[in-house]
Amino acid sequence: MPATIDWHARAAALSVNGSAFVNGRYVPARSGKTFDCVNPATGKVLAQVAACDVEDVNHAVAVARQAFESGVWSRMAPRERKKRLAAFADLIASNTEELALLETLDMGKPIRDSLAVDLPLSAQCIDWYAEAIDKLYDEIAPTASTAVSLIRREPLGVVAAVVPWNFPLLMAAWKLGPILAAGNSVILKPAEQSPLTAIRLGELAAQAGIPDGVFNVLPGFGETAGRALGLHMDVDAVAFTGSTEVGKYFLQYSGQSNMKRVGLECGGKSPNIILADAPDLDAAATAAAWGIFYNQGEVCNAGSRLIVERGVKDEVVEKVVAVGSAIKVGDPLDPATEMGAMVDGRQTERVLEYIAKGKAEGATLRLGGNRVAGEGCFIEATLFDDVTSGMTIAREEIFGPVLATIAAADVDEAIRIGNDTSYGLAAAVWTRDINTAFKASSALRAGVVWVNCFDHGDISSPFGGFKQSGFGRDKSLHALEKYTELKATWIHLGQ
Ligand code: NAD
Repeated sequence: MPATIDWHARAAALSVNGSAFVNGRYVPARSGKTFDCVNPATGKVLAQVAACDVEDVNHAVAVARQAFESGVWSRMAPRERKKRLAAFADLIASNTEELALLETLDMGKPIRDSLAVDLPLSAQCIDWYAEAIDKLYDEIAPTASTAVSLIRREPLGVVAAVVPWNFPLLMAAWKLGPILAAGNSVILKPAEQSPLTAIRLGELAAQAGIPDGVFNVLPGFGETAGRALGLHMDVDAVAFTGSTEVGKYFLQYSGQSNMKRVGLECGGKSPNIILADAPDLDAAATAAAWGIFYNQGEVCNAGSRLIVERGVKDEVVEKVVAVGSAIKVGDPLDPATEMGAMVDGRQTERVLEYIAKGKAEGATLRLGGNRVAGEGCFIEATLFDDVTSGMTIAREEIFGPVLATIAAADVDEAIRIGNDTSYGLAAAVWTRDINTAFKASSALRAGVVWVNCFDHGDISSPFGGFKQSGFGRDKSLHALEKYTELKATWIHLGQ
């Protein structure tokens, strides 16, 4: 990381655009309304952002539909789409510092993480789908020789991508890569807490040669812009990442409108199971700490339930407390900061309420538990011990730096506790026994199970949930299934 950059000076000099991006141009909301975009680390207003609503959605959908029907993107040769998407990825990479700064100012994550994680992974994601799309073949069914059945994947049309605030750019990239590579038009609706990088993407997409109308960005609130996209009769699919509660709204919107496809990447309460035969308890404890404290705990697959075999539980808790207490919390623009600000005051209050509930329900507070004094939305790394599966902090997604430690007698009980949740996004097991590892990974009801690591991944490996963590997968070639329709063309050949 370039340690010499004065990020405060950069931030002071930054010009921030709060417009919508429709049909290749920045435009205000049709109503002229805006809302404040606030830096949660300082409480200062960063920009006035277009508050898009039903009218903006109607207009953007019409534009996106027209672009789709024109074939300017949807019927472009895949190798040409590839070139432009690769250029888009390159532009994201070459604007890393500006985009990282916007991300950090907008939602409070440490600049070191924006630079080292969010930006490179976002560019890599777009590039990966660019590289994939001109190498995929369709199928011919093994019918009798009297017919040929061509089984092809076609783009859906207009896709709305509605994304959350915790990884604003990366979650957008997970949607945009496969949506655009497959030939669809897209309307990206960023979360109201974190619209700035999405807005900047509009310009970069145009610069990369993505035709007008194919890529549009509508900032605005969930209950207005998000709802209007969900209910629109001419949106073919919604690609959603966010809470389980709002994910269920999108299912309703679909049923109330045109039965549009809905892909849901929702919440989690992921179990991180450390067994007594873990190969390295120090490594397991360090991963457990970062599995919850990374990104201020605002991570869908955070290992928020630490389930430890009783014989090593106290030792593991000591080690996690040691790692957690050494974490540097504070100014997100300081490159040494490891935990930044919570996204806003509301989320800060919500997390503090969960901490109060943990105490009231009898869990033992071993680390943190407080709001950091001073301005801004900062919470200490927090660990509870002696948690039981029925407690609120073991059941509900807190989405903050709060770890609940639960003791288990053995692997079977650990798996039972691990599965005792309505979520199923991710899980981990630490053991040196391959049989135990495979048994646990098969028994845990989650879209990804890590063995002897936590939160590892690759763009080539699918990500998504079981149960109320949603359905459909982001990343990997499987993501393309969400944004394409399967068509069989049956050609009768006669004798
Ligand atoms: P959220 O559900 O409140 O908002 C997500 C998006 O939905 C935002 O763009 C918001 O404006 C929109 N929205 C809100 N209410 C709406 C409504 N009534 N109708 C239509 N749209 C609406 O989620 P959030 O607070 O931004 O993000 C945190 C959640 O996201 C957590 O639950 C987290 O687990 C989840 N998440 C999941 C994944 C994953 O891949 N599974 C990844 C990141 C975050």
